[in-house]
Amino acid sequence: MSLEVKNLTHIYNKGTVMESYAVKNVSFTLEDGSFVGLIGHTGSGKSTLIQHLNGLETPTEGTVLFHGEDIFKPGYDLRRLRGKVGLVFQYPEYQLFEETVLKDVMYGPINMGLSEKEAGDRAKEALARIGLGEQYWERSPFELSGGEKRRAAIAGILAMEPEVLILDEPAAGLDPGGRRRMLDMIGSLHREKHMTVLLVSHSMEDVAEYADKLMVMDKGELIFYAEPREVFRHVRELENCGLSIPEITYLAHDLKDAGFDIDTDISTVNEAFAEICKIFGIKSENEEDQADNCI
Ligand code: ADP
Ligand code: MG
Repeated sequence: MSLEVKNLTHIYNKGTVMESYAVKNVSFTLEDGSFVGLIGHTGSGKSTLIQHLNGLETPTEGTVLFHGEDIFKPGYDLRRLRGKVGLVFQYPEYQLFEETVLKDVMYGPINMGLSEKEAGDRAKEALARIGLGEQYWERSPFELSGGEKRRAAIAGILAMEPEVLILDEPAAGLDPGGRRRMLDMIGSLHREKHMTVLLVSHSMEDVAEYADKLMVMDKGELIFYAEPREVFRHVRELENCGLSIPEITYLAHDLKDAGFDIDTDISTVNEAFAEICKIFGIKSENEEDQADNCI
């Protein structure tokens, strides 16, 4: 397992009247190749936690291991780490700064020590992957639309070809179509590039469809780390920390309460469609296609 967090605590303004625990004794292992959703109410410590994973924040206690090595030990090469553990901040579009989109995306690879040629190739590939073709290369990042800027910023991280990709609320502020496109794009990156993904969100709906596992944070603590269906069984606990299960899972619970024989362990529209077909004795040969038609 490449990334491990051990008993990590982060206290802001320690020893002052402003002292606050942002992360409390959190431990977990991110399995290689997994897609993990990190969920929690605003202020639960998600952003603080992930900023430790590439050494941007230093823990008050505990540590992070990358390929078994303590990233906070003296002399550890944090610059190299930041190429391997790519972190896309919330609203990353505010960090674009170069004259052209291509130069902006090349910044990370150049900083890693790659030649102009190699950095350029990587940047072009990353931009293509994210849906920004050649016509964008020489444009100023500041001329792009909000969604395009965000994609360019993500390309800047992808161009470093990280092993682990961490995204802090990448769909925040986008319209529903933009949210879906962004999440689908991250899903396909995970599938095609076999990248380990840690996706931070405060929306269950957003992550339920993509994540193999969910981490739930509440007031700095990691309260669940399990498969979505397992996490969604804890409706009360989730509601107590300001979260809700996906609407479609509530629907399954309501149908069950109304006497229908339905599996309540569902969290996506496709799964619900299959269950509802079962109730009504309808054969659904290609559930995915039919569910798509229903939406
Ligand atoms: P989330 O990303 O889940 O919204 P954060 O990690 O941003 O949570 O915040 C966790 C807690 O730490 C909150 O109480 C927040 O107010 C506090 N906090 C975050 N950043 C700072 C900072 N730079 N200085 C002091 N307190 C902070
Ligand atoms: Mg945050």
